[in-house]
Amino acid sequence: MTDPTDTGFPCQVCGSKGLERQSAFTALPRVTSDCKPWPAGGSLAVCSDCGAIQKIPDAQWQNEIRRIYGAYEIYHLSDGAEQVIFAGAGGEASPRSHMLVDFVAKTIALPPTGKLIDIGCGNGAALAGFSKILPQWELYGNELSDRVLPALEKIPNFVALYTVDDVKAIPGRYDLVSMIHSLEHMPAPLSTVTAATRLLEDRGSVFIEVPDIETSPFDLVVADHLSHFSLDTLRYLASRAGLTAVTATTSVLGKEITFIGRSGQTSLPRPAAAAGFRAARATVTWLQSVIDRARTLSKEGPLGIFGTSISGMWLYGALEGRIDFFVDEDRSRIGRDYEGKPILAPQDAPAGSTVYVPLTPAVSTKVVARLAGHGARFVPPPEWPGN
Ligand SMILES: [Zn+2]
Repeated sequence: MTDPTDTGFPCQVCGSKGLERQSAFTALPRVTSDCKPWPAGGSLAVCSDCGAIQKIPDAQWQNEIRRIYGAYEIYHLSDGAEQVIFAGAGGEASPRSHMLVDFVAKTIALPPTGKLIDIGCGNGAALAGFSKILPQWELYGNELSDRVLPALEKIPNFVALYTVDDVKAIPGRYDLVSMIHSLEHMPAPLSTVTAATRLLEDRGSVFIEVPDIETSPFDLVVADHLSHFSLDTLRYLASRAGLTAVTATTSVLGKEITFIGRSGQTSLPRPAAAAGFRAARATVTWLQSVIDRARTLSKEGPLGIFGTSISGMWLYGALEGRIDFFVDEDRSRIGRDYEGKPILAPQDAPAGSTVYVPLTPAVSTKVVARLAGHGARFVPPPEWPGN
């Protein structure tokens, strides 16, 4: 007899065989990391030894990520313009990767010349940022295909793109190895970070940026994200990969973990598993309640969804497209449509309609308060369980 709870895979963080399937997850619709609705049916597990939350990289998942990446369009609703983060009240808008690049430059002393490789470099948003502050460095990229090469070649000190899917196959040594929103996609994160560490020159650094599952509940339904790290599980994985943390923090970008490490063995205690189980169960329960509220609202009259990124498109798929419009504050999206549903500015949402704001409770409460007074009724998702 096969044990239905046995995933057949070891934990991606600690290697233990104690993965416990979270069957309630399978009923949740999903979304792709390029913000397209994706059907339910995924597999999620939590490690009973270290609490790491992870998908199972079985044949179904491998097949799904091949289909997702085969049709991948980064930022398709804004013609490839990078999503903008608003830096504080009244602060000027700054693309996310430039904020991260600035943080790295402030945190570690980077010499005037050196070599950098960005693993999972996408269309080069981070490399372009690094190019501005490190004009004398040689910049390299790594991606699954060379579709991004024309964009990378416009970066002044870009040298080469390695189109390999295994970090072990990357040649050379580097003073900085970055993985910005790429490690969570990797089918084998521990061996990937171990291989990245082996690419370092003496005194070189690895820089990792991933979503923080403890503050980023919608990350769980991103179909092509295998790993859902907390600060503790990422730090633990990095230590097992031979990195000593220079910094590990959740305070650089909202809902994300920023880690910088140098080569060097540290042995950290294995994280307590209870935190992972608590986070996974609370998140699955809350995501289901977000859908339930949307279904109730859709019966009450015209309904719009706030946002056309991960959470907005996930909810759109969960409602099988049965909404009337989207609302977005991103000017590059307003005036467009998705599958015939117009994308409106908040003040243009029709009077008498409801706009559901599927953001984390802390953020949605602020958005709802800020937009009250426009014609439509703006509604937040249910409170976080336990609040
Ligand atoms: Zn584990």
